[in-house]
Amino acid sequence: MPSLNDALIHVQQQIHIAAKKHGRPEEDIHLLAVSKTQPAETIAAAFALGQTAFGENYLQEAREKQEALAHLPIEWHFIGPIQSNKTRDIAEHFSWVHSVDRLKIVTRLSQQRPVHLPPLNICLQVNIDDETSKSGVSLEELEQLAIATTQLPNVKLRGLMAIPKKATDITQQRAAFATLARSLKQLSSIALLDTLSMGMSNDMETAIAEGATIVRVGSAIFGARKNQ
Ligand SMILES: *Cc1c(COP(=O)(O)O)cnc(C)c1O
Repeated sequence: MPSLNDALIHVQQQIHIAAKKHGRPEEDIHLLAVSKTQPAETIAAAFALGQTAFGENYLQEAREKQEALAHLPIEWHFIGPIQSNKTRDIAEHFSWVHSVDRLKIVTRLSQQRPVHLPPLNICLQVNIDDETSKSGVSLEELEQLAIATTQLPNVKLRGLMAIPKKATDITQQRAAFATLARSLKQLSSIALLDTLSMGMSNDMETAIAEGATIVRVGSAIFGARKNQ
């Protein structure tokens, strides 16, 4: 196992190389460290190495770590499935939510966002493969949800997120990311959208080639997860 420092530097280098290779400005690509199942001490260690944005999937686990790390100015992103009875805690304790896929959820997030905080940044999760996975809005319903989101006062629609199904080859993988990028372009008349949240440890480069602005990387930074 490489040290956390080595792993983080390696991922940063991968982003740097992919950006160069695909003609992307490096400053347009942000690394979100996905810290699910990692203890608060590990997040604190990554923060000390300069990583400021962390993504969490499970609310209760995230809240415990947020309490333990309240002294650090961490930017918290919620990236997991959202049940409607969990929206208040998400609205109060995160800067970004990547996994919004229905109007009921984003309406509650807007209602429950404390007014002293800046608007909650929202990515709509799109089901680009339109199959088995139940998470994500369909491509057909995306525009309607995007329009409705821009009309809510305390959230700010930033862009789109997807978790494509495991591709059998790189062409298929790239096509899925290209679909998400195209969908973002098609929404450009609705709002100024600047975020494509796509790419994880194993498909980061392909996502960057297709325009990712946030890559969500867990195991390449923290090592393989044991308990999921
Ligand atoms: C776990 C997770 C990641 C990170 O996956 P790795 O393969 O460990 O990089 C990214 N996005 C979401 C939504 C996740 O749940």
